[in-house]
Amino acid sequence: MATVTIEKVAALSRRRGFVYPSSDIYGGLGSAYDYGHYGVLMRQNIRNEWWRSMIQERDDMVALDSAIILNPRVWEASGHLTTFTDPLVDCRTCKLRFRADDLDHAQCGRRPSKHPGETPDCDLTEARAFNLMFETQIGPVRDSASVAYLRPETAQGIFVNFKNVTSSLRVKPPFGIAQIGKSFRNEITPGNFIFRLREFEQMEMEYFVPPADGPKWHEYWIEERRRWHISLGLRESHVRLRPHEPDELSHYSLATSDVEYLFPIGWLELEGIANRGDYDLRMHAEHSGTALEWVGHEERYVPHVIEPAGGVDRFMLAFLCDAYDEEEVAGRQRTVLRLHPRIAPVKVAVLPLIGKNEDMVTRARALYEELRKAMAAEYDEDAAIGKRYRRQDEIGTPWALTIDEQTLEDGTVTLRDRDTLEQERIAVAGARELLLERLQQPWSPRE
Ligand code: ATP
Repeated sequence: MATVTIEKVAALSRRRGFVYPSSDIYGGLGSAYDYGHYGVLMRQNIRNEWWRSMIQERDDMVALDSAIILNPRVWEASGHLTTFTDPLVDCRTCKLRFRADDLDHAQCGRRPSKHPGETPDCDLTEARAFNLMFETQIGPVRDSASVAYLRPETAQGIFVNFKNVTSSLRVKPPFGIAQIGKSFRNEITPGNFIFRLREFEQMEMEYFVPPADGPKWHEYWIEERRRWHISLGLRESHVRLRPHEPDELSHYSLATSDVEYLFPIGWLELEGIANRGDYDLRMHAEHSGTALEWVGHEERYVPHVIEPAGGVDRFMLAFLCDAYDEEEVAGRQRTVLRLHPRIAPVKVAVLPLIGKNEDMVTRARALYEELRKAMAAEYDEDAAIGKRYRRQDEIGTPWALTIDEQTLEDGTVTLRDRDTLEQERIAVAGARELLLERLQQPWSPRE
């Protein structure tokens, strides 16, 4: 199996229209990226899978889409104004800034092979707290009363809607509120492609439970979320759980476990699952003067909250890294993304063996028109068939259907499998049903 690096994944992503550096023609913008066609399709699949397992297939979950700019008092109550900080150090020599707790992943400005502080020239300041929230102004007058913030997480939008949700929808603990949306953090050292961005998309769910049941549900969600990543193709040996040490817990957390993924740069957080206790509801109740509690027939309490919090961009990077492979087939090099079929941007390519053969083209286009109604499909008649297969391999298309001479005689096509490279002959008439069925089947990567 090929050695995977973030650089290789980033190069393929750019070359094949998954991810572009943002504002590219102006020299880019630090750690900002734009998603191209295949990136958009893939991200949509990641969101859909999360949504399906979180909401569609459950009875205890409702959806929310809250605003990005909230009343600034929300961030006062949540503690973000005072505690959402990272320790920042400056280097007086190279003028770069680093996260004091992450120097091991940073490069010295003068000697990139060294970490900051490792050369005699490095001259680091004492660490000081740096708030990660982006400030903005509301309205035409610039004064302190108009300061607002871009949300650094989607979770608070959920907590401040607790009363709206419980009084308008038929929910009862244990139940969850799930939301997908953009978050913004003025990270000191973003980087590693789309691993750490200043603008990113979160998928968060807050699960409200009777206080005594907190630990039980925490365990449940940790396992549920680990399983989800593996069910969508991450290798089991590349996924692990890491409980936080007491001294690294966030101010709101009773306990947190991270699902970590073995990125090419090491084990890093993919998703955090926290037991937030009653911290958030209690704080918002105190600051807003609104009671935020569950009132049942014979009970009244402030629920505890379990929060699985992940990010679309970081999940995408993990899926890409796990799927990336290079191999030699019949003396020729191929790059292939072995993505889970449900995550792959395109499910099937329809290819007339000879692009200039009118009958083949007609049959291929008809099949393509039928398939595209049911799934993301592509039609390609340009270049030799081997080259067309390679193009699809590179974007991770799991299946290709090739229309050839025999199709015209007996109504069958070859179905090529991206991973095994096996070709089987199937009836054109049953192709759509067969692929839809395969999309539902479990798929596992090669270890
Ligand atoms: P870190 O310790 O890496 O800064 P965190 O613990 O602050 O992350 P959380 O607040 O738990 O992160 O965010 C939940 C999830 O949101 C993370 O697991 C990650 O998937 C995603 N996420 C957080 N920050 C970023 C970012 N800057 N860029 C991309 N994704 C992010």
